Amino acid sequence: MTAERPLRVAVVGSGPAGFYTASALQAAERSVEVDIIERLPTPWGLVRLGVAPDHPNIKAVSRAFEKIARQPGFRFFGNVEIGRDVEHAELTRLYDAVVYSFGAETDRRLGIPGEDLPGSWPATAFVAWYNGHPDYQHLEFDLSGERAIVVGNGNVAVDVARMLALTAEELAPTDTTDAAIEAIVGSGLAEIVMLGRRGPAQAAFTPPELQELGELAGADVVVDPLELELDPASAAALEEDRATARRNFETLGDFAARQSDGKPRTLRLRFCVSPVAILGDGRVEAVEIVRNVLVADGGGAIRAVPTEEHEIVPCSIVLRSVGYRGLPLAGVPFDETRGVIRNEDGRVVDEGGRRIDGVYCAGWIKRGPTGVIGTNKKDAAETVELLLEDDRAGVLDTGSGRLEDLLAERDVTVVEYPGWEAIDSCELARGAEQGRARVKLTSWDELLACARQVEPLV
Ligand SMILES: Cc1cc2nc3c(=O)[nH]c(=O)nc-3n(C[C@H](O)[C@H](O)[C@H](O)COP(=O)(O)OP(=O)(O)OC[C@H]3O[C@@H](n4cnc5c(N)ncnc54)[C@H](O)[C@@H]3O)c2cc1C
Repeated sequence: MTAERPLRVAVVGSGPAGFYTASALQAAERSVEVDIIERLPTPWGLVRLGVAPDHPNIKAVSRAFEKIARQPGFRFFGNVEIGRDVEHAELTRLYDAVVYSFGAETDRRLGIPGEDLPGSWPATAFVAWYNGHPDYQHLEFDLSGERAIVVGNGNVAVDVARMLALTAEELAPTDTTDAAIEAIVGSGLAEIVMLGRRGPAQAAFTPPELQELGELAGADVVVDPLELELDPASAAALEEDRATARRNFETLGDFAARQSDGKPRTLRLRFCVSPVAILGDGRVEAVEIVRNVLVADGGGAIRAVPTEEHEIVPCSIVLRSVGYRGLPLAGVPFDETRGVIRNEDGRVVDEGGRRIDGVYCAGWIKRGPTGVIGTNKKDAAETVELLLEDDRAGVLDTGSGRLEDLLAERDVTVVEYPGWEAIDSCELARGAEQGRARVKLTSWDELLACARQVEPLV
């Protein structure tokens, strides 16, 4: 009896969605070989380069991904970018199925005047910089002014505001880059203001992230009680609501009742205000904001509607955190409005809704930038279920050829899993020397030089 030929699947992107896809494939009843292809020399996507460095327990989910990487039939192709080193059409020829899980790399825009003034940054860039992403280390964030404005009311905005408020002692044990620690600790910031378009009942924080703002060593959290007054629609929504919004509202009430502890920085949370322009002569000097009222739109949603009441808030830096956005990949149908690959539950479809056999997607590039890390597990499992159903139905074309041969022909330096392990060991050793969890390698040269010490596998 001959052994069954394994199903050969390429997974593009090594964040949570990529690893949960690999894991679901490994659990299949038939044998499956999974190659994860990643443009960086390092795996874990936003777990390494997005999740805040002062949240090591959340970053520790990578331990679960390490177990997936150790399963038979798994390979990691780091430093290989689909769309640059290999085209979509080539990948579909090489593999029986391709799953795109390359996340949402860019930011949504506010669409207001002054958005591109020097000193106005997307939070995506700031987050990537303090986390050591090698593409963002040349950026210089000027934190010398007194006030920073963070636009947005979600968990990323909270992360960014909190990172700006951390003290030297709070940052020291983390794997924040040295440049970022130096800039944050040495900054002249006295106030960090977060702007929320809607009210306290609609804020998209998870309760622990919000509560944490009340426990910072170097910053008092301030909320104006007047901004916690609820309009009738929000009050009714809160009455019926899930525990999350109610818990957040209670926490905000607690913040509003606090007296200042005289800490060096203030973290001010504002609600029902939107930026309408970023002002400045050659660089950011202020943000013009408008007060909003909340209106129930009849369909169950509560909308922010601007009033005539404007205010100018001086500041020296603006961090815009109004959402991540996926980028298209040549040859793969893309929904420009939502910034995701066109798909039905993970099966990629063309503009007419016809399935593109053998091509799937998972994670943020499938559903948009929502949910927590664990959300990607269910999401990836749903995609893999459909992929395996298509395999059983004989829909998948058998791939032919080897990715490693194509990459060798093109002189692409692949960082395989042992290459990443060498980087990991080096970073942990550097951390141990300094009594820190990890000191990251942050340049392409350092990362590739470290990975090159390991013999290639393929
Ligand atoms: C700032 C921030 C903080 C967060 N904090 C938390 C938190 O505390 N807790 C929590 O549960 N969730 C958190 N999240 C959410 C969580 O990170 C996401 O749900 C998750 O990372 C999405 O997974 P993904 O695999 O779809 O995308 P990603 O994690 O972005 O992974 C995509 C991968 O694809 C790679 N890639 C991109 N293009 C290509 C290409 N062309 N070829 C090859 N590879 C490519 C990228 O380099 C990346 O490694 C946070 C998100 C952000 C942005």
